[in-house]
Amino acid sequence: MKQMPGMFKGLGVTAKTMLRTLFPDGLRKPIPQPTKGAHTVQYPHEKETPAPRARGVIALHTENCTSCMLCARECPDWCIYIEGHKALAPPRREGGKPRQRNILDRFDIDYALCMYCGICVEVCPFDALFWSPEFEYSEPRIADLLHDKERLSDWMETVPEFEDYEGGSEQKKRAVPKPVDRTNPMAATPREQA
Ligand code: SF4
Ligand code: SF4
Repeated sequence: MKQMPGMFKGLGVTAKTMLRTLFPDGLRKPIPQPTKGAHTVQYPHEKETPAPRARGVIALHTENCTSCMLCARECPDWCIYIEGHKALAPPRREGGKPRQRNILDRFDIDYALCMYCGICVEVCPFDALFWSPEFEYSEPRIADLLHDKERLSDWMETVPEFEDYEGGSEQKKRAVPKPVDRTNPMAATPREQA
């Protein structure tokens, strides 16, 4: 019985909100106008600006990705598909040993399966994944929700800069890498493995 006052208070708030939604002009015009009184946004005619750190879509900075597979292994939905191969790069110094580096061949995220948990972004040790607030990428065909390496890289242009953390935070502010000029083959070289 102790819960009764709280329950009636809650019901009162619900009733008040319902009446305000149905009759936004109150007693001046007691005709139900739910479209006018509703607080929902009439998308796509009206659009809200999402918060800068909203989880809209995941962007991939391919140049930082070492194909370590950590994100794919940690993804609870198994919706990240990575393929790569090893290649030898010339030695840094004359007479040195050739270096081994990982080349990223495939990096896909299936947004038909993704649940936007953000684990992949959190676990990436090389700052290759970032959240972008972009959310308008619905498709008539579910298969088209599989974003490949190029499409995920294109999202990098929509990743906003990180805001300052609260005063006293020991966390270092992350920097968003600048998109690479893809017409320059040297700039598009994947991150090399030591
Ligand atoms: S956000 Fe979560 S579900 Fe989506 S790809 Fe990343 S780890 Fe997987
Ligand atoms: S995105 Fe990050 S965690 Fe995933 S394979 Fe690339 S470097 Fe590894």
